[in-house]
Amino acid sequence: MRAAELLDLDREHVWHPYAPMPGTSRPLLVESASGVRLRLAEPVDGVTELVDGMSSWWAAVHGYAHPVIDAAVRDQMGRMSHVMFAGLTHEPAIRLAHTLVEITPEPLRHVFLADSGSISVEVAMKMCLQYWRARGRGGKRRLLTWRGGYHGDTWHPMSVCDPEGGMHHMWQGALADQVFADAPPREFDPAYVEHLDALLTRHRDEVAAVIVEPIVQNAGGMRFHSPRYLRALRELCTAHDVLLVFDEIATGFGRTGELFAADHAGVSPDVMCVGKALTGGYLSMAATLCTAEVAAGISAGDSPALAHGPTFMGNPLAAAAANAALGLLLEQDWRADVRRIETALAAGLAPGRAITGVRDVRVLGAIGVVQLDHEVDMAAATRAAVGHGVWLRPFRDLIYTMPPYVTSDEDLAAITSAMLAAAAAG
Ligand SMILES: *Cc1c(COP(=O)(O)O)cnc(C)c1O
Repeated sequence: MRAAELLDLDREHVWHPYAPMPGTSRPLLVESASGVRLRLAEPVDGVTELVDGMSSWWAAVHGYAHPVIDAAVRDQMGRMSHVMFAGLTHEPAIRLAHTLVEITPEPLRHVFLADSGSISVEVAMKMCLQYWRARGRGGKRRLLTWRGGYHGDTWHPMSVCDPEGGMHHMWQGALADQVFADAPPREFDPAYVEHLDALLTRHRDEVAAVIVEPIVQNAGGMRFHSPRYLRALRELCTAHDVLLVFDEIATGFGRTGELFAADHAGVSPDVMCVGKALTGGYLSMAATLCTAEVAAGISAGDSPALAHGPTFMGNPLAAAAANAALGLLLEQDWRADVRRIETALAAGLAPGRAITGVRDVRVLGAIGVVQLDHEVDMAAATRAAVGHGVWLRPFRDLIYTMPPYVTSDEDLAAITSAMLAAAAAG
């Protein structure tokens, strides 16, 4: 089919993320991708190749069509693409769970493989509620979080997304009623810890867990905060008999400069979610890890099983991709790569502070953010970036990048120029 025909059919039949139907903006048709480049089926303003500044939403940290991950998936496909996970098990899933336990904070010992990030958050919540129910404290059924977060698009994760700025504003009243703290300030402020303490003191008998994105609030607004808040949360949760859940779906696997964002603070949650970069961006898979204590608590209850079991749980192809992607990450010097990207983003984006309409420029690890003082003109900003040969996907007042770790210095320079052009245009 010709590109124009495909795009007509796309417009007629295919929903895209956060889009109306039929779509109001024309997506770019991607024909293939390799390394950090997306190849378009037809040129846009004369451009056929785009440097990917988005890693396909935090996921493709090793770039596209990586020979090692390609080979691992192909090899696994030759043996089996999928078998059910109830009553059966297999090496790719076992190896993956073992690696995750090895590289995550020490007390996390057990792994539930989920089919997407949102589902791993659902499972985390279910674990926490079931833990307290099993311990005779079934009244602890609410979650506490801070404003400005994002935890996924399925129903219960939506209830802990930012209630105002987030994408789920329209469902207020229909969603579970959770406890919200103010958004965490960037710098450490003891008054904010007192605020968290006051909320936990007031709600401790009804709150099962605190769930937060550590260090960086991602899709909720690309905000950074002091690691000291994580240490404070750890102490407060322990003191108030509340479990602590870290959603590391975006921050995990080196993105913030530590392997996990929790490592900035040296604290361990009771439950942790990982996803996105887990499979190197190849296939949908996420995982919920928990401590032996959480698992033992659940198992001591009158219904000891964790009542969750997706059809495609532990999918061998996804697990093989994840094993290959984690192998690549751990055997190379990811820390040096992320530091190199951090330096390049900081230098390349600094001139953005002088652009009219730019409110803030911030960089942490391999994350670069240009925040405007107004809503981005998506069409104009995207066109400006594409004109610079770069793929960006701004949202709200944010033009941001989290490039693949394999991005060269030259391509990083293209990304930062494109971001500044997008900021000026949008
Ligand atoms: C993307 C994301 C999710 C949801 O993951 P999906 O795979 O899109 O369901 C949850 N939490 C955080 C922090 C995320 O960035």
